Amino acid sequence: MPDWIGNSNLSTLHFIKVSMNTSHYDVIVIGAGVLGTFHAYHAAAAGKKVLLVEKDKQPMQATVRNFGQVVPSGMSKAWFDYGVYATQLYKTIQAEFDLGIRQNGSVYLASDQDEQQLLHELKQRMDARGYEAHLLTAQQCQQKWPALKSSYCKEGLYFPQEVSAEPDLLIHRLLHYCINKFTNLTYKNYAAIVACEVTHGTVQVCYSHGERVTAEKVIVCTGSEFKILFADLFAKSGIVISKLQMLRTTPMPGLPLEGNILTGLTTRRYESFEECASFSKIKTPDHLVELKRWGIHILFKKALDGSVIVGDSHEYFTIGSEEPGYELSEHINHLMWQEAARIVDMRTWKVQAAWAGYYSQHAEKDILAIDIEDKIHIRTAIGGKGMTSSAGYAQKSIHTLLGL
Ligand SMILES: Cc1cc2nc3c(=O)[nH]c(=O)nc-3n(C[C@H](O)[C@H](O)[C@H](O)COP(=O)(O)OP(=O)(O)OC[C@H]3O[C@@H](n4cnc5c(N)ncnc54)[C@H](O)[C@@H]3O)c2cc1C
Repeated sequence: MPDWIGNSNLSTLHFIKVSMNTSHYDVIVIGAGVLGTFHAYHAAAAGKKVLLVEKDKQPMQATVRNFGQVVPSGMSKAWFDYGVYATQLYKTIQAEFDLGIRQNGSVYLASDQDEQQLLHELKQRMDARGYEAHLLTAQQCQQKWPALKSSYCKEGLYFPQEVSAEPDLLIHRLLHYCINKFTNLTYKNYAAIVACEVTHGTVQVCYSHGERVTAEKVIVCTGSEFKILFADLFAKSGIVISKLQMLRTTPMPGLPLEGNILTGLTTRRYESFEECASFSKIKTPDHLVELKRWGIHILFKKALDGSVIVGDSHEYFTIGSEEPGYELSEHINHLMWQEAARIVDMRTWKVQAAWAGYYSQHAEKDILAIDIEDKIHIRTAIGGKGMTSSAGYAQKSIHTLLGL
């Protein structure tokens, strides 16, 4: 390097070099979690030139830390339809390329009369929608899932068409599939975006290393990361972060506990049950009060290796106030394990791993949608329904944004 080039000249040269190399896209999607990846998928399927960027080596946030339960039956309003669409899309792609999607159905278990009443009311609502649902007696549940305890399970509501995913595999395989399928889609990892603004009618997007790319439209799907991009806007947005604790057992390949298993506390929590007439009248029995305080409802999901994911809890934090922290509460894990042991016979089960996952959600809206000059479209805070509904929501979102 010649001596006469000082630092200020260096940065000027660098800017000139990257400006000359600028690439232009129809659509740039920031964040390769399930919501961003499906936005990129639908934009590419519509023939657009798409760039999908991810700040990490590979996505490792909510999209890989969850259960992988794809449960439209738990959703309400349009989110149910998005979930149904997503289930079909998962199945269609699975038939072409192994995403690790399995169709083992979902079951909601009732442990008392109130929960049974909710199952019956949801069954009626699903019948009216033409969505296949079967009430199972306690005996039928135990035949299908012998580990269930007769002291807990009074009845079940089963949705045979629903699927489950392997969260630690799904997004990687989906990205692989998209890159191979669409020559008009470019994926870049280790690509943190630190600035995004509209200049002279196009959107300029800046990587942390200084390179810039431009696009007609940018879609921001950055999950629960609020510090890198649009920090001020997110701080005022009404978003909260939910911290969830999860446990995974050692593999038990022979254990017959297939499918998405959702339990009594879930019927007292999920949106589809909230729409049932009895929901608001149901009281919380004393033995569930401490569990509800920590937002605990018990779900089981047996993974491909035979381990069982058990969870979860919910603690809520406002952005910019208290940080959720990385540590796990022993008290919460104990409560979850204790309640899980009331539902299934877990005498031989051993915990292999414990972790926390975080997702963003809006205090009042189903998702955060902010448009800047009809060029930058923030679509994030999908809450606890992302693995179920992202593919369907993203399809609607892309069609609306691109006027398709
Ligand atoms: C423990 C747990 C259990 C759950 N269980 C289920 C379930 O069973 N079923 C279900 O339907 N849903 C479930 N969910 C919810 C679901 O996981 C989320 O709704 C979904 O994963 C959110 O996806 P996302 O793409 O919005 O966010 P994320 O997965 O957080 O992805 C956002 C991505 O953006 C990247 N990013 C952020 N900022 C930048 C930047 N500046 N530049 C580049 N990249 C950036 C991040 O690195 C990240 O990879 C669960 C969630 C958790 C935490």
